[in-house]
Amino acid sequence: MTSKRDIIIGIDLGTTNSLVAWSGPAGPEVIDDGDGPMLPSVVAYADAGGVERIGAPARAHAIENPTNTVYSIKRLIGQSFDDLAEELGRLPYPVERRSGEDGRDMPVVRIGAKRITPQEVSAVILGELRERASRHFGETVNRAVITVPAYFDDAQRQATRDAGAIAGLEVVRIINEPTAAALAYGLDRNKHATVAVYDLGGGTFDVTILRLSGEVFEVLSTAGDTHLGGDDFDRTIMDLAAREIAEQFKLRIESPATQQALRTFAENVKIALSNQDSAALEIDLGEGRTYQRELTVAEFEALIAPYVERTLASCRTALRDARLQPADIDQVVMVGGSTRVPAVRRRVGELFGRAPYTALDPDQVVALGAAIQASVLAGERRDLLLLDVTPLSLGIETMGGAMGKLIMKNTKMPCQATETFTTFQDGQTAVKINVLQGERELARDCRSLGVFNLTGIPPMPAGMPKVDVTFLIDQNGILNVSAKEQRSGAVAAIQIVPAHGLTPDEVKRMTAESIAHAADDMQAHRLIDLRNQVAFDTNKAEQMLERFGEQIDDALRDRIAGELTALRTFADETTDNDELARRLKTFDELTVPLAEAGISSGLREPAQPQGRR
Ligand code: AMP
Repeated sequence: MTSKRDIIIGIDLGTTNSLVAWSGPAGPEVIDDGDGPMLPSVVAYADAGGVERIGAPARAHAIENPTNTVYSIKRLIGQSFDDLAEELGRLPYPVERRSGEDGRDMPVVRIGAKRITPQEVSAVILGELRERASRHFGETVNRAVITVPAYFDDAQRQATRDAGAIAGLEVVRIINEPTAAALAYGLDRNKHATVAVYDLGGGTFDVTILRLSGEVFEVLSTAGDTHLGGDDFDRTIMDLAAREIAEQFKLRIESPATQQALRTFAENVKIALSNQDSAALEIDLGEGRTYQRELTVAEFEALIAPYVERTLASCRTALRDARLQPADIDQVVMVGGSTRVPAVRRRVGELFGRAPYTALDPDQVVALGAAIQASVLAGERRDLLLLDVTPLSLGIETMGGAMGKLIMKNTKMPCQATETFTTFQDGQTAVKINVLQGERELARDCRSLGVFNLTGIPPMPAGMPKVDVTFLIDQNGILNVSAKEQRSGAVAAIQIVPAHGLTPDEVKRMTAESIAHAADDMQAHRLIDLRNQVAFDTNKAEQMLERFGEQIDDALRDRIAGELTALRTFADETTDNDELARRLKTFDELTVPLAEAGISSGLREPAQPQGRR
């Protein structure tokens, strides 16, 4: 056991939001204070210069208190005043020049009569994160790894270190944000790889090409735009609404408070469009007037296309500077909240010719990587899971709560498996896919890694649709699960890091439990399969009775109807698998004449069981 005093935290000190993480026995995790994992990088000062609010409360009061609310301080830290001419025009708080000893004039924020350096403002944020971590561990945390953009120069890195020191932290290392993101995905396990890290946040964009050789990540090139991000996406929606409101109602939205409300609304619509095909825009304009329209994903994608294309142009610049072609990139890692926009993922995937890594929360990936680096520096990095083989089996939940394994424990990676499943109900147009990990036979005894829905299946009789579920684990242990319905071509997918949150001890425990419960589990799995078969066969028989019952003899028809109900009841109540199998067989034999009547009437339906085909 390591003493808590040895803990080194990982901090992502962001332009808009900051996070603190640590790497415990189950791998890295972000420390959440109950208000969510992200601390807005905003500090509100009182007129006298004292800190009044930090984080979300500071941001919430920014409109009322614009000149005393300091945000985006990362844009100023370590820069000379002269470098900032353009930047300062965008900030609502006053920034002044202070002459530096080395002839470089520094920016300072003026709050009342006080002058506050960017390092001091950043220190307030770092101090808050440090306190958050200290509360989490119940004792003071003193050491941290802090991330900075790859393009930060020495002065900016040094200023970030100084901010840490002001916050009472020993900054054991400053690491590049893209390197941290690559570490979070375990890409350091590759001996040689070239990685592109695409980071699109709220207000900044950068792309970095890293080369990993041995254990060192080298920055080959970096490009970007310090004023491009999700805020621009929000603005396209705001502008659309403002334009249409002006046309329809001859109204202009001018007050800062209404503009802010509209901005928040636009952001929510944008976020909704990451998961649905359209979202309602509805704005109450007072005096009984309401602006209303539906915004589709296609319209939204057209609005943001110029911004997305600008990020791709930066990617091409970074590739050119590194003297590489898209095909030379082995992995693409997505960072920043705006990479949740499906069009962004799609376009980046198209440019590099490979699906980007999105399995980890794009807001947390840098902090998680910082925590991993911190644990390495603390000498704590436990034996990572053996990653050239899958530590536990992977599969999906099938009908009735069974675990259908697609990839067995100890399969060498990379690996791939596909199985075809079908629907259970007539006219079923969607299936929920629950991705499971574990050795047990029942879904409830396995660990759920993620759930996604395949929609858009054309209505067909139960058992007809063919849904191919593919598990693909690449050499880095990232699992891509995709589902495709053959007839309609409907597809859905999810990406997961299966090793996340699992310690070698947990793998051992899960394996041992499966051995201890093997016999019971097999029984339970067989019971589920039999019950599914009973449900399927009795449903089919019921339908056939309705359609072709007239064509068989009355006594047989009544007998089938009676047995059908009896078998269903028995299946619900029994745990005797052998008896249930026997009764099912008898029932199936009894219904043969009915099936024949159906066939001679020209009906061709597969007598496949639900679940696996
Ligand atoms: P970051 O600076 O990395 O925290 O990213 C913040 C940006 O991500 C903001 O513009 C958010 O509106 C945006 N964002 C967060 N979640 C989503 C989402 N689900 N879909 C689209 N944008 C999102």
